[in-house]
Amino acid sequence: MKHKIADANCIVVKVGSSLLVDELGSIRRPWLESLINDVVECWKRGQQVLLVSSGAIALGRRHLHLKSGTLHLEEKQAAASVGQIKLAHAYQEMLASHGITGAQVLLTLEDSKDEERYRNAKNTFETLLKLRAIPVINENDTVATAEIRFGDNDRLAALVAKMVNADTLILLSDIEGFYTANPQLDPLATLIPEVKQLTPEILAMAGDSATQFGSGGMISKLTAAQMALESNCRMVIAAGKHLNPLKRIDQVATKTWFVPELEFET
Ligand code: GLU
Repeated sequence: MKHKIADANCIVVKVGSSLLVDELGSIRRPWLESLINDVVECWKRGQQVLLVSSGAIALGRRHLHLKSGTLHLEEKQAAASVGQIKLAHAYQEMLASHGITGAQVLLTLEDSKDEERYRNAKNTFETLLKLRAIPVINENDTVATAEIRFGDNDRLAALVAKMVNADTLILLSDIEGFYTANPQLDPLATLIPEVKQLTPEILAMAGDSATQFGSGGMISKLTAAQMALESNCRMVIAAGKHLNPLKRIDQVATKTWFVPELEFET
């Protein structure tokens, strides 16, 4: 197989809430530990790794006994501030058990628009990576209002990949890859193993529902792919629910690579 995580220089891994947080609102610790083990393996090989992790709202809403279903923005923000500290603690503790320093970075969409803020964030990442820390990134949900939210971490992860000139972006997802149609609804849907260009045909295959393909939706994943390809970064969508989800990517055929036309060279 041509594309391998093991070949990457700099990897951004996006972890979705549904993988990380169980139905009772607790962190799936065995799963997270197995992800961290994979990350540590990459780190020990000398690869740079950054984690973009969701889960703050999912963790905080249970803790605050907020209702299920859609929350108001201010409830989401309150939940995020409670959940984020739990999330950061879990990552910090698990990375520290391997002797690795975790570093929390919270970003907003505005940080990508304002040149000075963009440069500051970029410099911080570069310094952290030089010091061999592993950045754990999320949207700064408590200050991001509706209009200025990324809202989903797929695009945030693509932005981070661009900032650090990553060559590999991994979206760990609740689906196995990119299909010609929603596989839950269409028995004829087939997985596309490699996409080189986001043609109108590909975009049409994503459908228009934000929810039918899981939390971030396929549309936000394609937007992330577009951003990644523009910065010459390959991106993979792969199932994340298994233990050791990063290692698994190099072992299974079921996944979708989005590859920049300018061929990725190792
Ligand atoms: N930033 C949100 C959180 O940490 C989630 C965004 C997403 O699911 O992509 O809860």
